[in-house]
Amino acid sequence: SVTGKTAIVTGSNSGIGLGVARELARAGANVVLNSFTDTSEDHALAAEMTEEFGVDVRYIKADMSKAEECRALIEQAGRCDILVNNAGIQHVAPIDEFPTEKWDAIIAINLTSAFHTTAAALPKMREAGWGRVVNIASAHGLTASPYKTAYVAAKHGIVGMTKAVGLETAEEPITCNAVCPGYVLTPLVEAQIPDTMEKYNMDRDEVIKKVMLERQPSREFATVEQLGGTVNFLCSDAAKQITGTTISVDGGWTAL
Ligand code: NAD
Repeated sequence: SVTGKTAIVTGSNSGIGLGVARELARAGANVVLNSFTDTSEDHALAAEMTEEFGVDVRYIKADMSKAEECRALIEQAGRCDILVNNAGIQHVAPIDEFPTEKWDAIIAINLTSAFHTTAAALPKMREAGWGRVVNIASAHGLTASPYKTAYVAAKHGIVGMTKAVGLETAEEPITCNAVCPGYVLTPLVEAQIPDTMEKYNMDRDEVIKKVMLERQPSREFATVEQLGGTVNFLCSDAAKQITGTTISVDGGWTAL
């Protein structure tokens, strides 16, 4: 049912965003890839996906830390039937040492960008008579960990926004939901390993098993393909009455 629809996935030249974009394209959606860079690799990624899946894939540069660029992304894309707010960054530090500019950047990219893109996308969905907003939140949208104050605040924020938008669109053919992944081995998680190794004085393997997957009862990372499958499900007719809520893909993390 996503065939012929246009999906915009923010922060999709890597990790979960790219995985979600690929699964949407595989299912027949035309896709807009995005990040804040504008390299030949970014555009090559779009060309490769066009080739692989036989759908229209474009790359549009827009910095999700900037309000105007968030809104311009939606305008430039033309259509927006499916909006996946995925762009996100992380910084790990105790609150009294947490750099203000990191706090501001995390709130801007992980939370405020979704306000701007959703505000710009809803009129297009209404015009088309169908729409799906999927916010990639986190297990940290439902629970907390120390040293991640900005991330936890932003992710709880986007879960709250998901509920409000779900209510605002409840009587329309539009849904808004949040997917809450546990740990997925992407560049974002990879980047946390060295700091965590130092903080806990552990080697890489211990950090993965004892710190990261310690919270994930399945003891396995979730995959970007599984997250793409979850987004595709939320875009399906079966998910028509699912709105304003969260789906955890966390191997049991939030059941603990
Ligand atoms: P990642 O670093 O691989 O990908 C992040 C993406 O966001 C990249 O494409 C990057 O280019 C883009 N991005 C960063 N800053 C941007 C900006 N200013 N403007 C536009 N794009 C920007 O990380 P990931 O793990 O794939 O994370 C994707 C999302 O999933 C994030 O919102 C993250 O919080 C969430 N998440 C990840 C995990 C995990 O374990 N990896 C778990 C839960 C939630």
